[in-house]
Amino acid sequence: MAEEVRLPFCTIVSLHRSSLWYHVCKSCERVLPELRNSGGKHFTSMENGEECHHCLGNLLKNGIGSSRKRVYRLLLSVATEDKVMVVVAFDRAARVLMGCSADDFYKFVSHDPSVVELAGKLLEGHMVDIVLKHPKSGHAQHMRATSILPLSCNFQPVFQTIEKAYAKISNNICLVGSSLMH
Ligand SMILES: [Zn+2]
Repeated sequence: MAEEVRLPFCTIVSLHRSSLWYHVCKSCERVLPELRNSGGKHFTSMENGEECHHCLGNLLKNGIGSSRKRVYRLLLSVATEDKVMVVVAFDRAARVLMGCSADDFYKFVSHDPSVVELAGKLLEGHMVDIVLKHPKSGHAQHMRATSILPLSCNFQPVFQTIEKAYAKISNNICLVGSSLMH
């Protein structure tokens, strides 16, 4: 019996940098093993490495390339009025905070790893209404957030803020560039 607990007023204390996403098969959404990362250098070049065994036949037949996608698995520390606890937010709940798919977020991170730090900073301190479920598996450590709703009407998903910041930076570079030309 998975009983739900609602915490209507809690505060995001931190986003754990250790867990952001995992890989699933694009067609059947089965969890796929993490790719081996040889020192971080060839991370992107190995993305088409290990495909889903269940869908491999169809993939080859249809000539589809990469069959993996990232989905979020965020670990968040949240504070209620009397304690701080760690909860896990999977894709649906996490997207409300992040504002984009985990693959799109990864594109930013692969370009600039400090984006992870920035995402944490942007989320910290926000008041949220969280619905929690006890994990299905007895081995799971953390309560699972099935819904996370930011309470402030000023809340902006991480992706929107980061995108704007990047647009500003690239505009400035254009301005600097054009002023150098004249
Ligand atoms: Zn599959």
